[in-house]
Parts: sequence; C-alpha cells; structure tokens
Amino acid sequence: MKFILTKELGRLARWLRILGYDTIYYDKDDKSRLIIISLRDKRVILTRGSKMSRFTGVRMFRIIEDDVKKQLAQVVKELDLDIEEDKTFLRCVDCNEPLVDIKKNKAEDRVPPYVFKTQKEFKMCPACNKIFWKGTHWQLVKEFLKCL
Ligand SMILES: [Zn+2]
Repeated sequence: MKFILTKELGRLARWLRILGYDTIYYDKDDKSRLIIISLRDKRVILTRGSKMSRFTGVRMFRIIEDDVKKQLAQVVKELDLDIEEDKTFLRCVDCNEPLVDIKKNKAEDRVPPYVFKTQKEFKMCPACNKIFWKGTHWQLVKEFLKCL
C-alpha cells in the first residue's frame, strides 16, 4: 500500500515512512494534481478534509484524530497495516527515498561514537545523504506500539 498525504499531515507522513511505506507528502493546495498522482501511482489519499471523496476511483481515507500517534494508530488499525521490524529501516523519513546499504566504516565520521560502536548496519539516503541505522527507527516504533 502506498500513500499520499495532504499538507496538514506532515508528521504522519514521516511515521509512515518509518514503518516502510512509500509515502508522498503533498503540501500544496492543487487538489486536481493530488488526485492525478493518487490515481497514477495507486496511492491512498490520507487527508483531514472530506471534500475529495466524491471523485470516483480515488481511495481516500479521512484522518479524524489530532495527535500524530493517534493518527497513526487509526491508519494502522483501519487499513490493517503491517508493522515489522525488517520494514522499518527502508526509507528516508525526510525524502521517502529507499535507503541504500553502506559499509560500516563509511558511517564512522558521520554518526555518534556510541552509535558506531553499538550498531552493525548502516544505510544512507541517496537523495539527502543522511545516515540511518536500525536503532533510529525501531526504537521509535517500539514506543509507538506501547501506545496502541
Ligand atoms: Zn533523504
């Protein structure tokens, strides 16, 4: 399942990427463009508004909660999303780009020493060059799961 989120849902977009879901954050007002992207890529639209449901063929899901963790809980439950540790380390939370593996020694100067010592695997976003390691995402997810 892939998503496109409207502009009031930026924090939720980051969370869906953490869970490994291909998620576009669409922060513009151009509704027709939004619809086109959703139809073209078969993306489910997540939005707080209700006005778009009249477009046929569009899968739209309305977020009613205000708090981002509750929003995520709503999406996970109602759309039956999988949360798996292996999938929580796949995408850049900022760019939505799939992360690529890098050799551990390439991360040495770019992560805190403690992280370098304790983590085995590192990945990089090819778009923004940010380094990720499993602990970053999975720790957040575990905390989220406790709140469900
Ligand atoms: Zn990135």
